[in-house]
Amino acid sequence: MKPTIQVHDKHFEVFIEKSVIENRIAALASSINQDYEGKRPLFLAILNGSFMFAAELMKSISVSCEITFLRVSSYQATESSGKVHQILGLLENIEGRDIVVVEDIVDTGLTMIEIKQQLMAQNPASLSVVTLFQKPEALKQPLEVEYVGFEIENKFVLGYGLDYDGLGRNLSDLYVLCPA
Ligand code: 5GP
Ligand code: MG
Ligand code: MG
Repeated sequence: MKPTIQVHDKHFEVFIEKSVIENRIAALASSINQDYEGKRPLFLAILNGSFMFAAELMKSISVSCEITFLRVSSYQATESSGKVHQILGLLENIEGRDIVVVEDIVDTGLTMIEIKQQLMAQNPASLSVVTLFQKPEALKQPLEVEYVGFEIENKFVLGYGLDYDGLGRNLSDLYVLCPA
């Protein structure tokens, strides 16, 4: 039996080990290095969830680049339109830049679709997305994600930057909710 941990009221077990995650991140970085050779991309990492992924990814990025960090606020607009996500903290002018958005996980995809729309309105030269995890079954609208670390089942995960109600971001393995 795998060792389990308790976070708040729930039990979790290791799902993807740190060494596996880090090898995969190095492979993602190497694809990005090839695709952006001769360019100077600006990485936009979405806080809080992507902080650990972004740090690990950047250690293996060898092209000349910049990185900055954004937040996405989400609030309920109206009953009918659902949640609205607003980008906070983008001070850089991204017009004409090659942008790589760094995200922890794409679930329904609705957050990333809005982030892409808002960034595209500022006329970057190009825009791509790198996410460490994606749940393909949960996608609600078509969304192109150029670099995906791991496609995972539609289950709640935690660790490696991802939280459960504020806790667990520091865990260096990825955990999944234990079967009830
Ligand atoms: P989406 O808009 O794609 O449904 O959701 C994106 C955000 O929801 C992610 O950036 C992340 O903060 C949160 N999220 C989605 N799935 C999970 C999960 O399995 N675990 C955790 N901790 N957060 C998740
Ligand atoms: Mg996120
Ligand atoms: Mg969260």
